[in-house]
Amino acid sequence: TSYHAAGDRYERLEYRRAGRSGLELPAVSLGLWQKFGTDYPFATQREIVLHAFDLGVTHLDNANRYGPPFRGAEKFLGQLLRTDLAPYRDELVITTKAGNPISPSPYAKGGSRKSLLSSLDHSLRDLGTDYVDIFYHHRPDATTPLEETVGALVSAVQQGKALYVGVSNYPTDQAHDAAELLRQAGVPLLVHQPRYSIFDRTPERSGLLDQAAADGFGLVAYSPLAQGLLTDKYLDGTIPEGARAANSTFLSPEQLDGVYRERATALSKIAHGRGQSLAQLALQWVLRRPEVTTALIGASSTDQLDHNLAALDFPPLTDAELALIDEHGVH
Ligand code: NDP
Repeated sequence: TSYHAAGDRYERLEYRRAGRSGLELPAVSLGLWQKFGTDYPFATQREIVLHAFDLGVTHLDNANRYGPPFRGAEKFLGQLLRTDLAPYRDELVITTKAGNPISPSPYAKGGSRKSLLSSLDHSLRDLGTDYVDIFYHHRPDATTPLEETVGALVSAVQQGKALYVGVSNYPTDQAHDAAELLRQAGVPLLVHQPRYSIFDRTPERSGLLDQAAADGFGLVAYSPLAQGLLTDKYLDGTIPEGARAANSTFLSPEQLDGVYRERATALSKIAHGRGQSLAQLALQWVLRRPEVTTALIGASSTDQLDHNLAALDFPPLTDAELALIDEHGVH
C-alpha cells in the first residue's frame, strides 16, 4: 500500500525554535528506542511512524544502539526512508547518536574520533540517507579529551554527514565546555538531550536549563512520561500485558511500589481536575519551560500518539497547579 502524508499535517502541532538556531522542532517528537527494530512487527512500527508524520511529528530520534538488536531501529527506519518516506526526506529531522557501547570493540564505544565517525558512516548506510539532521554524542566519556569528541562532531558537519550536532546526558559544565568549543569551531551546539520529567528534575537542579538559555542550545527532553510511569496505566497496581514494565530491562516492576502509586495517583487527580490525563499533564509540564524545545516520547501504538499529542490542546498549567505538582512530584 502506498503512503501519502496527510495534507493537514502542519496544522496540528506547535513548532518551537531550538535554542538560538534557525531550526524548529515539533513540540512533541518521537523516539525509536524501544519496540522498534527487527524483533518487532514491521507493520506496527511503520503504522506508528507514518501516523506520527501525519500528525506533524517531523522529528524522529534514533541511535546506533536502538533496537533490539543494536542498529535494528536504524535498519527499520532505513526501510521507511527508502520507501514510504522517500518523498518526504526534506521534511524530516532524522537524528542518530554514537558513543554508547554496542559491541566489545574498543571502537564501538566512547567519544573517540574513530568511534564516532565510523558509527556515523554505518548509521548512514543503515538509514539509507546521505546525511542525518542531528548527530549526537550519546553520553559523556571522561577518558577522551573533549576536544577530540567535539572535533569529530565538527568533522561530521564539515563532511556533509550531519547538518547539526548535539550532546546527550552531559553534565552542565561539560555541556557548556562543548558549546564553547563548538562555537569556536563555527558549528554551534544545536541541542542537548537530557532526561527530564516530573519524576526527574535533575536538569533544573543541575542548572542545565539556565545553561541552555545562556549558551543558546535547545533541550530535547527524553522520557518525559518516565517510560510510562507518568501515565494512568500502572495506577491500579497491575501491569498491562505488553507494557514496558512487563518486558523491558529498563523499567522493572519493582519501580511500581506503594510510594510510586501514591505520587502518581495524586498527580493523576490534578490532571483529571483539568479534564486531562496524567500523560497529557506530564507533557505540558516539561514544555512549560521555554528552554525545552521538544518533549521526546516513545509510543507503542498510534492511539498513544493521538492521546499524547492532544496534550497541546489544553490551557497552560497555572502557578497553583505547578505548586501542587511540586508537592507530589518531587523526590
Ligand atoms: P516516554 O517517557 O515518553 O515513555 C514512552 C512509553 O510510555 C511508550 O513507549 C509506551 O510504552 C508508554 N506510553 C506512552 N504514551 C502512553 C499513554 N498515553 N498511555 C500509556 N502508556 C503510554 O519516553 P521513552 O522512555 O520511550 O523515551 C523516548 C525517547 O527518548 C526514546 O525513544 C529515545 O529516542 C530517547 N531516549 C534517549 C536517551 C538518551 O540517553 N539520550 C535515553 C532514553 C530515551 P509501552 O506501551 O510499551 O508501555
